[in-house]
Amino acid sequence: MATTIVALRETVPGERRVALTPEVAKKLRARGARIVLQDGTGASAYFPDATYADSEIAAASTALAQADVLLKVQPPSLEEIAALKEGAVVIGHLQPHLAPERTKALRDRKITAFAMELLPRTTRAQAMDVLSSQAAVSGYKAVLIAAEAAPKFFPMLTTAAGTIRPSKVLIVGAGVAGLQAIATAKRLGAQVEGFDVRPETKEQIESLGAKFLDLGVSAAGSGGYARELTQEERDKQQQALADHLKNIDVVVTTAAVPGRKAPRIISAAMVAGMRPGAVIVDIAAETGGNCELTRAGEFITTDNGVGIIGPVNLPASAPVHASEMYARNLYNFLELSLKDGALTLDWDDELIAKTCITHAGEIRHEPTKALVDGS
Ligand code: NAD
Repeated sequence: MATTIVALRETVPGERRVALTPEVAKKLRARGARIVLQDGTGASAYFPDATYADSEIAAASTALAQADVLLKVQPPSLEEIAALKEGAVVIGHLQPHLAPERTKALRDRKITAFAMELLPRTTRAQAMDVLSSQAAVSGYKAVLIAAEAAPKFFPMLTTAAGTIRPSKVLIVGAGVAGLQAIATAKRLGAQVEGFDVRPETKEQIESLGAKFLDLGVSAAGSGGYARELTQEERDKQQQALADHLKNIDVVVTTAAVPGRKAPRIISAAMVAGMRPGAVIVDIAAETGGNCELTRAGEFITTDNGVGIIGPVNLPASAPVHASEMYARNLYNFLELSLKDGALTLDWDDELIAKTCITHAGEIRHEPTKALVDGS
């Protein structure tokens, strides 16, 4: 029997992305799946119902009751979980660390839940990597926000009124978001520097035409990620950075260490030493901020005139392309299991096994299990 794949309107405030786009709905149908959508599912991302040709439109409760697979951007609500049939599959950015009660509900309802952010970051997984695709949106948008807030031009301008020097932009953290931020700031004509604690980023930063800022600290960890710095390394990084920031116009911070609070990189004292009119956009705002003064969702101005912006859910601010990339990531993940319209999960495939948080009444992800057991 054909697998019924369902998508709903996202209900988390500010979320404008959608987990299923018309393009991906068509591809799934071509693989034998049946698509049922809540009315208005794609509206916030400018995909009207009519663009999902040959998909069925239904009320949310009707769609949920039929779902073999529910595709989500944000985690499902407890009501949505309760409306699913036992054994249904849920795929999304599930953030199990934020809500143990949701994991319990998924377990008790015998839902097979895949948290896409747990996907192993192997070469084969790249096309399914929602963290990467959405981080690229964040990096791009953060630079546009900075350019809008800055009291200066980004590019050098030669005008009849004289020459304007380009803004000096520093991107802190050169992962997926940081590299996209560097590329965007370069396109806007700024003088761009980037730094990261992973030494391999030097070449990546330079290949984008930016300068690698060497603060004398290297902290390559496992799996392509950074490890946490020691106190000594942190002090060294801080001192060198404090001096450097005095001459910077715009800082975009993107540093993260998986599973931990965002590393504190820019202290209040460093901000106090910055130029009036300088702007910091802190992409890590939602996980505690890379800057000590960041407040998630706010734009504050310090006594010395430095603007600090803590944007939340940046990918939702570019819902068309963010949804297109996200939905393609989910399609590539589903493709592992969808054969002639039927869903078969291969538990020997690490991409399936390691992304799963609940299955058949069990919690399969150890950190999530520990959290639920301790709650
Ligand atoms: P992330 O969001 O976890 O971190 C962002 C950046 O912050 C990283 O580059 C990290 O090194 C840096 N950082 C951490 N602590 C720092 C500090 N104290 N000071 C300065 N920088 C600090 O990372 P991400 O963007 O999701 O991915 C990082 C890397 O993982 C990628 O660049 C890539 O090499 C690898 N990756 C692999 C795949 C894959 O193969 N499927 C997919 C995505 C990423």
